[in-house]
Amino acid sequence: MAPEFNLKTPIGYLSGIGPHRSDVLAKELGIFVFGDLLHHYPFRYIDRTVFHKINQIEPSGSGVQFLGRLVSYSIQGEKRTRRLVAAVKDETGIAQLVWFQGIRWVEKMLKVGNVYTIYGTPTLFNDQISIAHPEIESYKPNQVNRTFQPVYNSTEKLKRLSLDSKGLSKAIDVLLKSVRINETIPLYIRSKYELADLPVALRNIHFPESTKSLANANYRLKFEELFFLQLKILKSKITNSVRFAGPIFKNVGANFNSFYSERLPFELTNAQKRVLKEIRRDTLHGAQMNRLLQGDVGSGKTIVALLSMLLALDNDFQACLMAPTEILAQQHYQGLKALVGDGVEISLLTGSTKRRQRSEILTSLADGELQIIVGTHALLEDNVKFNNLGLAIIDEQHRFGVQQRAKLWKKNKLTPHMLVMTATPIPRTLAMTLYGDLDVSVIDELPAGRRPIKTVHLKENMRLRMFGLLREEISKGRQVYVVYPLIEESEKLDLLYLNAGLEALEREFPLPTYKIGIVHGRLSPKEKESEMERFVKGQTQILVATTVIEVGVNVPNASVMVIENAERFGLSQLHQLRGRVGRGAEQSFCILMSKDKLSRESKIRLETMVETNDGFKIAEKDLELRGPGDITGLQQSGIVNLKIADLATDQTLLQTVRNEVIHILDNDPNLNLDENTLLRKGLSGEPGIGWEKIS
Ligand code: ADP
Ligand code: MG
Repeated sequence: MAPEFNLKTPIGYLSGIGPHRSDVLAKELGIFVFGDLLHHYPFRYIDRTVFHKINQIEPSGSGVQFLGRLVSYSIQGEKRTRRLVAAVKDETGIAQLVWFQGIRWVEKMLKVGNVYTIYGTPTLFNDQISIAHPEIESYKPNQVNRTFQPVYNSTEKLKRLSLDSKGLSKAIDVLLKSVRINETIPLYIRSKYELADLPVALRNIHFPESTKSLANANYRLKFEELFFLQLKILKSKITNSVRFAGPIFKNVGANFNSFYSERLPFELTNAQKRVLKEIRRDTLHGAQMNRLLQGDVGSGKTIVALLSMLLALDNDFQACLMAPTEILAQQHYQGLKALVGDGVEISLLTGSTKRRQRSEILTSLADGELQIIVGTHALLEDNVKFNNLGLAIIDEQHRFGVQQRAKLWKKNKLTPHMLVMTATPIPRTLAMTLYGDLDVSVIDELPAGRRPIKTVHLKENMRLRMFGLLREEISKGRQVYVVYPLIEESEKLDLLYLNAGLEALEREFPLPTYKIGIVHGRLSPKEKESEMERFVKGQTQILVATTVIEVGVNVPNASVMVIENAERFGLSQLHQLRGRVGRGAEQSFCILMSKDKLSRESKIRLETMVETNDGFKIAEKDLELRGPGDITGLQQSGIVNLKIADLATDQTLLQTVRNEVIHILDNDPNLNLDENTLLRKGLSGEPGIGWEKIS
């Protein structure tokens, strides 16, 4: 009995593939099943509609097609140099064709005087256009030629098994012919957006008949990809908000009010007030809040976090704040303690908390005496039990995985409200995709009185100017960071660079006038902490560091951030680092030191930094430069595995698709209507594309 083919049928069953090739396809290209091959889209197309004249052909490195009448051919050379050389001409000139292999076969099809369609990559040989191993076929004036020829990614191993681009294209052709593809998107949506039918789109993405049909296919498949992604995300959001009840914070009581009116050291920005209102609203109705708070570095997320936690306390719930690093947790703890004073029970729990202290903390947390706990991943451990956790806040969300987030909220009888904060401004499109199950709040305003940081890019020969600026700032009582990149392959090398840099700085800024501190990954948490503390207290003026300081550290008196080997940092990292300064009222500076010769991309990165302080603009640029696959956290998230849509360039389409999905789910949250049957099936894990064997 013939096997039932579907999207999940192992690729070995495809005629012409077999077990050996299927193994290699899986290893080399991740193609395991029919569907994988079908979605192995061409990365470009060769336009076969255009015929060049011989005298227009240039050795440009890309393929050209032309018509030529065979003038003559001969076999030349011996053994290894044996080759078939042919001359073809049109009304403008003569070109040479050469074959080293398959000579006998080529010879059979050549006939002097006939016209051929010739395709290949031209080179210049003895001042003549010459093409080695061209594709050649007899020209038939009325033949409908395939217009675009797909070009597929392949690998050396696959090429040896005749699965080069051509071979893959043949396999896909076979695949398309031996199955029937069923529609996945209901007619009413297809008509509304003028989407090509799926079978047509899939055929055309591989073997387009025209530019227009290719564009249509492209649009349809991108639409589909983004559509089901959004449907999945938004559908689960509905399910979640129905499933999880959350605590109700109906009181605004003593904790919140007395802090707000007596201790809050500044007026909140309008953006902070707005976000607080959003949080208030979210926590009033008994459904779990799941909110992402985005705010550029220095925009003042911490105070929003604190006020939200006080709200939880006013309703007799506990709150926790989890940070990605020991230093940051430490700093949050001290900062919060200083802000709230003695009225609130607050503790710090990290990996280096001492045994005895830890057990005390755990006990008071479990019996509800402890109101706020600040910590690192240590908070996720099983023995950390809350009495009644009402609000869990995660700082620098991008450092944590989705699972960790989930783990935190499963720590309770009642699902606590979740607030995740990030200073890595995520472009809207990405936020929609990555955190589609979260509501998003944005602090889009910096506290008043901040001066924009001045950023300059200096090359090595300007190093003295950099030293000069440091001296000047330090003489005004300011402090300075000097940051070195982390080279992941070699921690040793890192330290080497760091130490060399440190020595140069010590020569330039000698004791006792200047004091330099140093923080890097090799230090114990305790050592790091005490170095940081010396800097925070102003006992050192220069802090030399690797990127351990990247996240969250707050020293308002620091006014210069020097980034060494700035070309080695990604844009968002550079922006994060820069955000360590500019936190006080003084003018601050960011100095990007780089080597002289820069790649195009590094150059754009550094230019972008010099041009703008706007985290969102920078994030957009980052996305554009690196592609979404690289954006921090995306890879682990595993959701963004797009085959055809591109989050950087398809933002408008994503918005359209998202609006449509919202509209559909508003009317039919469970996709029960007949018109949405296809969507329900598509979501429930049935193959996204329907298949039937027809031959
Ligand atoms: P981030 O959003 O990067 O976490 P922080 O919460 O650390 O920023 O705030 C940065 C600095 O700005 C802190 O010193 C904080 O006290 C201060 N700050 C926060 N909000 C305001 C405000 N509304 N007015 C003045 N200063 C503020
Ligand atoms: Mg912060």
